[in-house]
Amino acid sequence: MFNLILFGPPGSGKGTQSQKLIDKYGLKHLSTGDLLRSEIANQTPLGLEAKNFMDKGQLVPDEVVIGMISSALDNNPDARGFLFDGFPRTEAQAEALDKLLKLKKTGIHLFLGLEVSEEELVRRLLERGKTSGRSDDRDENVIRSRIVEYHNKTSPVADYYARFDKVRNVKGEGSIDEIFEAVSAEVDSKLK
Ligand code: AMP
Repeated sequence: MFNLILFGPPGSGKGTQSQKLIDKYGLKHLSTGDLLRSEIANQTPLGLEAKNFMDKGQLVPDEVVIGMISSALDNNPDARGFLFDGFPRTEAQAEALDKLLKLKKTGIHLFLGLEVSEEELVRRLLERGKTSGRSDDRDENVIRSRIVEYHNKTSPVADYYARFDKVRNVKGEGSIDEIFEAVSAEVDSKLK
């Protein structure tokens, strides 16, 4: 099994690079943002609860996303590996993920961070907001709140994995293909 965390602030290109990674390496894509948006679209109680946080650019409570990831792992027993996109976003989520993977006798093999400047993030998210249908991409205040949440709660997750020497960082600016080449090189080096 090969389990990868694709990490980075909102707008750093995690979704775009994830699509290319799952095609190339046959991993199961687990994006908590996508899972939450599907809960909202289906108007489930979980979706309705999550929407209140997402609309403000705040993180959804840990137990909600951990529960979703736990079910997704159980529902994909034959996966060759998982690509975690947008998860874990807090240290508590990282600890919970470690426990869940340990129960399945596996773990995280690579934690790959995408580095993008803050102004570029805001620019990309506002641009995406014109077509994504995501209300959290249309309002600059919500975008800035998401970036603040990232700095306060999510960036410490990189320190958590650095303790286990699993962290690699790649410049997330340039063309999609250039970034994918750098990302793939890091994956290949861990697969060897
Ligand atoms: P994303 O699609 O990854 O940008 O996520 C959109 C929104 O969903 C975030 O701003 C959060 O409100 C929520 N969200 C997604 N993943 C998580 C997570 N792992 N923990 C908490 N909230 C999350």
